[in-house]
Amino acid sequence: MTDTRIFHGDILPSDIARNIIAHFNRGSFRVQQIGHDPKIAIQISTHQHARSGGQTALTISIHKLEDGVSVQVGRQAWLGVAASLGVTALSALRNPLSLLGRLNDLAQDIESLKLNEDIWMVIEKTVRQHGAGTELSDRFTRYACPYCHTANQAGESRCIACGAPLGDIQPQTCPHCGFVVSTLEQTCPNCRVRLAPR
Ligand SMILES: [Zn+2]
Ligand SMILES: [Zn+2]
Repeated sequence: MTDTRIFHGDILPSDIARNIIAHFNRGSFRVQQIGHDPKIAIQISTHQHARSGGQTALTISIHKLEDGVSVQVGRQAWLGVAASLGVTALSALRNPLSLLGRLNDLAQDIESLKLNEDIWMVIEKTVRQHGAGTELSDRFTRYACPYCHTANQAGESRCIACGAPLGDIQPQTCPHCGFVVSTLEQTCPNCRVRLAPR
């Protein structure tokens, strides 16, 4: 199970990474970052299961987008994370966390820890602090009328110059996950939330 959300605005992966590390790198958690902007992965594991031979881990992958970041929280094998960041398998193997392999044990542990929820809470707080969010930012709130090419503000139902209807071309986002959706879609293709009629 992975959950992907997109936040639009002036925010970098490292902004989110810093806050996640500050929040979780204490107590029974162990947190580790791989990579730098524009692509960062963070793995959070618990010590408590190490003794019984397993270890709990969640991976948070944060990628810079043209106007914001995409954040994915889920379970991913360490080597998979390394590969997606272009880290060689050899350097991943030098890392002690590369031995995490018992992914089957993880689901219940993670649920009982409510770790997932806490992670999203920290991420969303960071996003708000940077004035970013699931809505498209100002940079994308103007777009050209397809008929006369006059710039219009987002939200205009008709072109201010020629009066052409603009409803169908307006960029919109899912209020839950920030995915850019078309006016024809009734459910979000990313998170499956039902979208209000527009
Ligand atoms: Zn026009
Ligand atoms: Zn969505």
